[in-house]
Amino acid sequence: MMNKYTEEYALYLDAEDPLRAYRQEFLIPDPDMIYLDGNSLGRLPKGSVKVLEDAANFQWGERLIRSWNENWYNKNTELGDKIATLAGAGRGEVVISDSTSVNLYKLAHSVIKMQKGRKKIITDDLNFPSDIYVMQGLVNELGSDYELVVLRSVDGSSMNFEDIINALDQNTALLTLSHVAFKSSFMYPMKELTRYAHSKGTLVLWDLSHSIGSVPVNLEDANADLAVGCTYKYLNGGPGSPAFVYVRNELQDKLQSPVWGWFGDDQPFDFRIDYRAAGGIRKFLAGTPPVLSMMPLETSLDMFIDAGMDRIREKSIRQTSFLIDLADKYLVSLGFRVGSPRDPGCRGSHVSLQHNEAFRISKAMINPGIGERVIIPDFREPDNIRLGIAPLYTSYIEIYDAVMEMERIVKEGLYASVDNGKDTVT
Ligand SMILES: *Cc1c(COP(=O)(O)O)cnc(C)c1O
Repeated sequence: MMNKYTEEYALYLDAEDPLRAYRQEFLIPDPDMIYLDGNSLGRLPKGSVKVLEDAANFQWGERLIRSWNENWYNKNTELGDKIATLAGAGRGEVVISDSTSVNLYKLAHSVIKMQKGRKKIITDDLNFPSDIYVMQGLVNELGSDYELVVLRSVDGSSMNFEDIINALDQNTALLTLSHVAFKSSFMYPMKELTRYAHSKGTLVLWDLSHSIGSVPVNLEDANADLAVGCTYKYLNGGPGSPAFVYVRNELQDKLQSPVWGWFGDDQPFDFRIDYRAAGGIRKFLAGTPPVLSMMPLETSLDMFIDAGMDRIREKSIRQTSFLIDLADKYLVSLGFRVGSPRDPGCRGSHVSLQHNEAFRISKAMINPGIGERVIIPDFREPDNIRLGIAPLYTSYIEIYDAVMEMERIVKEGLYASVDNGKDTVT
């Protein structure tokens, strides 16, 4: 039996890894740098560089306006259908559009209009701040009859389901939650919560930003109503790549987007003066999509579909469990705490390690001494170092080496000389 806390074991796991070949599909200019932030900005697939070059030189440069018909106009729905494959949704249920924040607004607003007489929106404090801000803004716009309830988590990292179930009532129009919480990686059971919400007549809007491409999502099986999510995190769409919207087929006719833009019209190129919503998911589009930001996503989605979410999840669980085992063995005695669920069934693909000096430790990882290895995690207030595992390119040896470096940084007090100033983006 091999000692599972060793470099040898990490190398063995890599050698046995059925997904190991995918790493070569990504641009990795510095193989010594350990990148553990794919949950914030995924790595660049090599194929996406070619797509971007073609989009610029050929599609824009040479074909110009003709590219709208040749390539661009249907991209939102073509890419949406590929995301649907990863999310257990059907064709025509997902479209690429805007940012996650804007999509949250469009969907929540449309639910409020449909759920006449219901005045309450429920979310929780594990949710991403932008999600909560959008709901605050919506309630502010709707007026004082409306209420946003932000349920408190147990300890900043997980929720008591009872608290959600007890809060749902006949006055609740919408429950909106992150499927996987951005800080702690806590994952909700989508199907069970959806069933409870439906029993009260409440619709559920899931934010899949930290779950799409990291855990299998089955929207159809969960009988999910609505969802949104980012594409620049685990899906490797690139900085600023547009988000997606999912609306269950039967709901598409009943809901109306609050933004009536020409891309959501039935026949944008008729240039009629009266808006007529497109049938199906296209009605949730508003204006011209960011074509260049959308194009690189396809290469990456094809890789996910090829690798299969079940195999990706299997590796992710092995990797996050390996990381937690190593943290228990080498880091807990140095003041670290595991801030993510220990049950892999309730955990996404990132692990938060907490420490009272988390910020300075994370900075020492990113900016080490000359000749030492750069490790890129990210820091989330107040004391979380998030380590994102992206199974298509993260190796077991990187996880092992990162933990060894964290141990060294704390043991040798290397973070002590790091200043506490924060960059604009952390
Ligand atoms: C990253 C993230 C966002 C960001 O939304 P944008 O509007 O695309 O910037 C929103 N919600 C969650 C849960 C996220 O993880």
